[in-house]
Amino acid sequence: MAKLYFRYGTMGSAKTLNLLAVLHNYEQQGKKALLLKPLLDTRFGHDVVQSRAGLSHKADLLLQGEDKIQLQAFLPLQCILVDEAQFLHPSVIQQLRDIATYDNIPVICYGLRTDFRGRLFPGSQSLFELADSFEEVKTTCAYCNKKATMNLRFIEGKATLSGETVLLGADENYQPACYPCYRQKLFAAEKTSAV
Ligand SMILES: [Zn+2]
Repeated sequence: MAKLYFRYGTMGSAKTLNLLAVLHNYEQQGKKALLLKPLLDTRFGHDVVQSRAGLSHKADLLLQGEDKIQLQAFLPLQCILVDEAQFLHPSVIQQLRDIATYDNIPVICYGLRTDFRGRLFPGSQSLFELADSFEEVKTTCAYCNKKATMNLRFIEGKATLSGETVLLGADENYQPACYPCYRQKLFAAEKTSAV
């Protein structure tokens, strides 16, 4: 039985860079790895996995909702790499679990642990329930030197807890933060908007 891995981190923790490095290593060794991602993430074009550091690679498979993973066309495979796994439907995570178990293909998922409200994404929750191995991809808080564990959302420069979980095309950005800085930024934004 192969393993299902969940490598989670905040925004800006170089998860995708890490994924692309693993993919590069497989390719260098002449091994085939399948690159999979949810269709939802359209930041850099539908089928491209791109890290903020500039590296990119075309995705082999895009999944939406409760899609069934059709592996036949891609076999044999040495590994499956998943980007933005937090956005996958729990039924897709269950399929990945079964692929690792019964098809004996290791599945390495990269994704966010929680959203900007500090709540688990459905895909991440399923991974915490089903994965064999967990690894935190670490980065530093944008405001101090502690480890970042939270994602702060800014809209028009102000930290906020409001809005949809996924805002496509909105004028927003995110910063990784430790919990005390996360609370402090939200508190400060609340105070200025109350005046
Ligand atoms: Zn901090």
